[in-house]
Amino acid sequence: MALEEYKRKRKFDETPEPPPEIESKAGHRFVVQKHDATRLHYDFRLEMQGVLKSWAVPKGPSLDPGDKRLAMQVEDHPVSYFDFEGIIPEGNYGAGTVMVWDVGTWQPLSPVPVDGKYVPGTEAEAAAMLAKGDLKFRLDGQKLKGDFALVKMKGRRPGSKGTEWLMIKKHDEHEVQGYDIDAYDESVLSHRSLAEIVGDAGSAEWRSRPAGRGKLKAAWLADAVAKLDAKKSGIKPKSKKKA
Ligand code: MN
Repeated sequence: MALEEYKRKRKFDETPEPPPEIESKAGHRFVVQKHDATRLHYDFRLEMQGVLKSWAVPKGPSLDPGDKRLAMQVEDHPVSYFDFEGIIPEGNYGAGTVMVWDVGTWQPLSPVPVDGKYVPGTEAEAAAMLAKGDLKFRLDGQKLKGDFALVKMKGRRPGSKGTEWLMIKKHDEHEVQGYDIDAYDESVLSHRSLAEIVGDAGSAEWRSRPAGRGKLKAAWLADAVAKLDAKKSGIKPKSKKKA
């Protein structure tokens, strides 16, 4: 089963993360989570084959096609992870703060461009591209938009686990030269910064300042925000920020 490693690494009586359940409905959402763990990184997750295919991107994704961002493939995550924001307590796998940095939908692109442009592809093409280690896709998120590729690195360095990919923005109207990810330290679900998530989980300020539902057109996203609101109203800070 695809979520065994996810399950093996976690203690579900301690972590607020969702249980390892495989989703039967096929969806095309994606999430980028900013994760302040032992080292700050971003987790890029694509809903595919009933799970979230996941990569840890140390510097985060970029809209600049000149950036080739190292992306370490990690264990598949359950689909319900896509709206997980909060604090993983110390002593648990991935302990630290998680922000939902971006969410949206994605579509596979056909591996062969037509007249120099990428065009939408099929599920079968996406599965084949993933297996081959050259996955092309189009994102429609709040922050990330346009065409991207995840390319598995072939040259194995000594000690390499074979999990190294590169995430690269393709040239299109959404590219941004010199993209600076640090300029966007805000949750798309709660509009909090990482520091605010650490400091005010469950605080009165947070309860009185629910995320801007008016701006959320997608029903599934509005659901996620409503769920987060409900969860947050009962949450007590479980842990101080990990050093
Ligand atoms: Mn992570």
